[in-house]
Amino acid sequence: MIIGVLNQKGGVGKTTLSINLAAIFSRNGARVLLIDADPQGSALDWAAARNEEPLFSVIGLPRATIHKEINQIAKGYDYVIIDSPPRVTDLARSAIMASDLILIPVQPSPYDIWAADEIIKLINEALIYKQNLKSAFVINRKILNTAIGRDVREALEVYSVPSFKASITQRVIFAESAAQGKAVCEIDEKSLATKEIKAVVKEIMEFLK
Ligand code: ADP
Ligand code: MG
Repeated sequence: MIIGVLNQKGGVGKTTLSINLAAIFSRNGARVLLIDADPQGSALDWAAARNEEPLFSVIGLPRATIHKEINQIAKGYDYVIIDSPPRVTDLARSAIMASDLILIPVQPSPYDIWAADEIIKLINEALIYKQNLKSAFVINRKILNTAIGRDVREALEVYSVPSFKASITQRVIFAESAAQGKAVCEIDEKSLATKEIKAVVKEIMEFLK
């Protein structure tokens, strides 16, 4: 299973979601590879900041040829997660063509909702060649008890892509864990942040059924 985490907007949580999903899949016993396709190399920096044994493999591949190389690279892994860069269109296209499932992190802000049209356009282009490609929004950095947190789901209905019921709240543990090269589940298995990531994993499984 190849999961591309994409959004042409930066800072929406692509790397955060990629790392934390990879960690839960690994903890569940799967063999996981995280491809850092962002020339900035944030996931590689995350791996370098880590003192513990790796939970999963991380490689850098910031090239628009991922879709050609993916079969070879994915050998021996149950899950490959592609953490994609913002803005670079040819790389986004390549990551989409390489993926079975696209997750689009989006923050509850009108700017994020408008900016999502770019990635949706690229997905719609790819659907011409890849009819069984699946994609979904994952709302990230939701602020509890705010109207915008509730309205974002409705605002996203203008797009042809569904939103996951599971969403991720704005929580300091996401930044703090990253600084140590860890996933939230490694900091606190029982935390609400960990529960939210597990709920996204569960929804991925149901979505793919
Ligand atoms: P992207 O990869 O899309 O550019 P990142 O995953 O790097 O986005 O997130 C951008 C910043 O926001 C990072 O500093 C990250 O730690 C922080 N962040 C992301 N998601 C959350 C969250 N749910 N709660 C708190 N901070 C978050
Ligand atoms: Mg990133």
